[in-house]
Amino acid sequence: MLTARAEIDLNALQHNFAKMKQCCPKSKIIAVVKGNAYGHDAILVAKTLSGADAFAVARIEEAVALRQAGITRPIVLLEGCFCAEDLVIAAQYQFQPVIHHAGQLADILAATLPQPVRVWLKVDTGMHRLGVFPEQVAHYVAQLSHCANVSGDVGFVSHFYRADELSAPTTHEQLACFIQATAPHPGEKSLSNSAGVLYWSDAHFDWVRPGIALYGISPRGDSSGIAEGLQPVMTLKSTLISVREHKAGESIGYGGNWIADRDTRIGVIAMGYGDGYPRTAPNGTPVLVNGRKVALAGRVSMDMMTVDLGPESQDQAGDEVILWGKGLPAEEVARHIGTIAYELVIKITNRVRRQIISAGHNE
Ligand SMILES: *Cc1c(COP(=O)(O)O)cnc(C)c1O
Repeated sequence: MLTARAEIDLNALQHNFAKMKQCCPKSKIIAVVKGNAYGHDAILVAKTLSGADAFAVARIEEAVALRQAGITRPIVLLEGCFCAEDLVIAAQYQFQPVIHHAGQLADILAATLPQPVRVWLKVDTGMHRLGVFPEQVAHYVAQLSHCANVSGDVGFVSHFYRADELSAPTTHEQLACFIQATAPHPGEKSLSNSAGVLYWSDAHFDWVRPGIALYGISPRGDSSGIAEGLQPVMTLKSTLISVREHKAGESIGYGGNWIADRDTRIGVIAMGYGDGYPRTAPNGTPVLVNGRKVALAGRVSMDMMTVDLGPESQDQAGDEVILWGKGLPAEEVARHIGTIAYELVIKITNRVRRQIISAGHNE
């Protein structure tokens, strides 16, 4: 019997990629596949997205794994190299590191590399997490463009911090700052994450960097991918392993924090925090059983969770359960749990089998 599994729908992935392309037909696309493609399997995603112009990851190990799997397109290291040794690896594999602080500039100026690399300069336009200040850009460009370890023009990146809020003034401010800081320089520019692609058409520039939208999830916590023309790529499924009669007044599970107010039936699902379903999910979090929304009842344990099926329910052990994905947006589940769908999908553990779904190919 199948237990916890994450179906990965490659047709949905292609659909979402096409939607990104439709939003910004003139821009090249860096598909963001960090964090094992947000839990979706980075190698599978990279091999499927044959139209992507480049990929981006957060850790050099993720980039090496992609190269070793035969991915030959450009790979951007979003936070650059964390030490001088990694710069040599980046050059060997032809990764494109971001440079965001003085130490990284010093490293590349001093390095002896097997071949030069393309680099991106990160500008802090307001997020204040990474990046050089706008007034430092000219200095960095001057240093990098005279450095034999750098090939081509220095590219420019920055990152939005409130682009998911459609009326936030900060996005206009970041855009203006980015344009002003980079205008004197010839290199290519990249500013937009998924929210920028979907909601800020002035911010597309030469390259866009969508992540979450490729996976069919809205960057807005108060929306859903489906509502925005995207399709969920991951559907997290499991199975009822028991259906029990339960008396009014009785509790369920660790801590006994849920008590039935009527006689009912309880479904036990083979899914727990050991699979990556959050233990913090409260009573009432929705779960789809036989296409019907039911409520989580009792604490999520390591291997199981329990739902209130209702006194009239006909569900049986062996029936299929959907935790999120098709029919139940991860965004909706995330709202109940007090997090964002990004965190849900990326935290699925190795115990959960990834099952590929695509037209003419089910495995
Ligand atoms: C993760 C990341 C992205 C993708 O963001 P989404 O909101 O998932 O589209 C783009 N750029 C940078 C620098 C990132 O770290």
